[in-house]
Amino acid sequence: MDDLQMQLLLDLHRSNVRQGPGGDAETKRAMELAGLARSRPLKIADVGCGTGASTILLAKELDAHITAVDFLPEFLDELHTRAIDHGVADRITTLNCSMDALPFTEGEFDVIWSEGAVYNMGFEAGVSAWRRFLKTGGKLIVSEITWLSATRPPELQSHWETEYPEIDVASAKIGLLERHGYSPEGYFVLPVHCWLENYYRPMQSRFDAFLERHGHSDQAKAIVDAERHEIALYEKFRDYYSYGVYVAKKV
Ligand code: SAH
Repeated sequence: MDDLQMQLLLDLHRSNVRQGPGGDAETKRAMELAGLARSRPLKIADVGCGTGASTILLAKELDAHITAVDFLPEFLDELHTRAIDHGVADRITTLNCSMDALPFTEGEFDVIWSEGAVYNMGFEAGVSAWRRFLKTGGKLIVSEITWLSATRPPELQSHWETEYPEIDVASAKIGLLERHGYSPEGYFVLPVHCWLENYYRPMQSRFDAFLERHGHSDQAKAIVDAERHEIALYEKFRDYYSYGVYVAKKV
C-alpha cells in the first residue's frame, strides 16, 4: 500500500465510530462472558484499537487502565479526543506500535482485547504471540472473521482465499486457541446490525463527500469501489460468514 492510498483510507475511516463490524452491546456481552465485571482493578491492552469504540466502552464499564495500541497515529489522536469527550482519558494510554512487535513484559495484562484487527498479523500468529503478555488466568477476547457453516458458495470461498486464507470455521479457531495454551470460555457471532447499521451504512453515507474532497481521483474511486464490492458481497452472502467473538483464558 502506498502513502497516498494510506492517507485516503485514513480519511475515509477516521470519522467513523468503528473501523470494523462491532457494537457496544456485543462488546458488553464479551465482557460478561469473560467475567470481567467481577475482577478489578484490571490492566487491559486493546490491540488494533482504531479510534477506540471498544477502548472507550471498556474504560467506562470497568475499573481498568487500558493501553490502546494501533499503528496509525491519526486513529490514536482521534481516540484521545473521544476519550476526553467521554471523561475517560485518564484511564487510557495510547501506544503507537505494530501488533506484531508489542513492547510489553511477560504477564503484564489481565486482559488482551482485540476487535476486528488480529487478521492483520493472522489469528494464529496473534494469539500465540500475545499469550505471554497475559497473566496466568488472564483473558483473551478477540474477534475474527469466521465461516458460519461447513460449506459455502465457490464465489465466496475464492474471494476469501485471496483476502484472508486463514478464514475458517469456529471449531478450527477454538482448536487453535486450545493448541496455543488457552482454555476457550465463550464464542458468539456478531449479528447483521453490527455490519450494516454500525459499520457499512455510516461508511456508505460518507462516500460522496469523500470522493468530492479528493476530486474524484482514480485512487479515491478505487477505494470506494473496493468498499462497495465488499459490502455487496456481505449483503449477498451474510448467512455464510461473520465475525466470531472468542473468549479464552490463559492456562
Ligand atoms: N478495533 C477497532 C478497529 C478495527 S480495524 C474497531 O473495532 O473499530 C483494524 C485496526 O487495526 C485499524 O485501526 C488499523 O489501523 C489497525 N492495524 C492494522 N494493522 C496493524 C498492525 N500491524 N499493528 C497495529 N495496528 C494495526
